[in-house]
Amino acid sequence: MSVKPTAGKPVIMIIVDTLMDAPLNEAIRAGMAPAIDFLIKNGTYSPGLVAPFPTMSVNVDTTLLTGTYCDQHKIPGLVWFNKKENRLINYGSHYRELFKLGVVKAVEDLLFNLNQSHISREVRTLHEDLYRQRFNSASINALVFRGNTPHFLDLPKMLGRFTPLSRRRPVYAPAIFSYGRFSKLNESWRNQHFWQKAGVNDSSSVQQFSHLVKENKLPPFTIVYLPDLDQRIHKYGRLDRVGIEKADKQLQKILGLFGDWEKALELNQWIIMGDNGQAWVHSNRNHAVIDLRKLLSPYKIMRLRKGPRTGDQIALAVNDRMAYIYTLNEEKELIEDIAMLLTGDNRVDVIAWKNGRQIKVRSGGIGGEIRFQPGGVLQDQYGQLWELEGNMEILDLSVKDNRVQYGLYPDALARLYSCLHSHEGEFLAVSARPGHEFAGEGSPVHLGGAGHGGLHEQDSLVPLIVSGTESLPEHMRIVDLKRWVLSLITKSVYDSESTKDS
Ligand SMILES: [Zn+2]
Repeated sequence: MSVKPTAGKPVIMIIVDTLMDAPLNEAIRAGMAPAIDFLIKNGTYSPGLVAPFPTMSVNVDTTLLTGTYCDQHKIPGLVWFNKKENRLINYGSHYRELFKLGVVKAVEDLLFNLNQSHISREVRTLHEDLYRQRFNSASINALVFRGNTPHFLDLPKMLGRFTPLSRRRPVYAPAIFSYGRFSKLNESWRNQHFWQKAGVNDSSSVQQFSHLVKENKLPPFTIVYLPDLDQRIHKYGRLDRVGIEKADKQLQKILGLFGDWEKALELNQWIIMGDNGQAWVHSNRNHAVIDLRKLLSPYKIMRLRKGPRTGDQIALAVNDRMAYIYTLNEEKELIEDIAMLLTGDNRVDVIAWKNGRQIKVRSGGIGGEIRFQPGGVLQDQYGQLWELEGNMEILDLSVKDNRVQYGLYPDALARLYSCLHSHEGEFLAVSARPGHEFAGEGSPVHLGGAGHGGLHEQDSLVPLIVSGTESLPEHMRIVDLKRWVLSLITKSVYDSESTKDS
């Protein structure tokens, strides 16, 4: 078999971090997003693509690339407690927290461990699947990139001097791999400095992508990550249009690389999407922030800098509007007690934990509980089967004729189930109502802005724009995209080869 890697129409997937439907529509109406407008007018627009839970980039991107939820790919969130290593993992939620955990460990977790050891080997990434079918692929500024080709990161000497981080330790990524200043396609240092987020920024992503196009090296699949919008939404809130205008300017540059926009469409298949939404956050700190240390003050909570010590009862892993609460001594009774405490705060939206084979869910401000497990006769819109009982109001579910309908919490059952089976340990997963964020020790908050991580639709729904192909995924969930993208690539090669034959 000899497959010509550039035979088909290349698939270009552009992830605009925190692209959301409402502000996008506003921006388009105001003429601030002409490139996206063009792609929508010449393609298909779907406003409600469902992100996995927790709605944090590392989980979302791993789900996107592996086509599995975190019960299979094993990345539970940005921050989580790793029982095997007996420590809190943090891929970089905030520099203050990083200093407490130790910067070096965080850099090592993000640059090496996330892709090379934390993502399960039982699942394959899109890049790995393409490699098996002898297709090349490219990853530009994506956090999750596991592939088959060894690359050596350009680590600053300063880091190497104090740490065991080795310049001789390879990371395995797709053949074409760019990751900030650590791995570049374009030699230039413009946009790559540490004060420019070490090159993980929109301008750098476009600069690297341009290099690929200009050198005529565009592979059958390229993923380009535009990270900048996320921070603007955190700061200015859900309806920030200026951030979208800026992202669109980058897209205009990308489309422009092919001559004109029509040509860009003719030559490629385009997928533009968000990775998670964000929910609004109150401006008043006392009201906005759910301080888990206060709420759980009856218990001895692990200190970040010290790690687990004798006498510590619980550990917190705060993922913005979502948090994991662990019992360190495996005391099962403690879980119910903690859940009880949490239901007393009506800012806590969803409180979930494993109880044998069942998942139990309670809520602050709503009485009763839901118990569910996979299997049974109730079917949801994704064809998943469930056994389900209790107060449906908690997850805004409606059940009729053996069909489960989701309301404010898209794909709630599978997303909660996967989150609670994503890693070892006795823990609860909690999600905040819109308007609120969780805080532990040193957690960042975004008063008057927005945050994510939660199960709510505000955190969970992102738009998907597809142009240059008629094909669409089977279901509008990020977990369903991998299979579809593979079909776009293999089909396009097949098409062009069959036209050659005729
Ligand atoms: Zn964010």
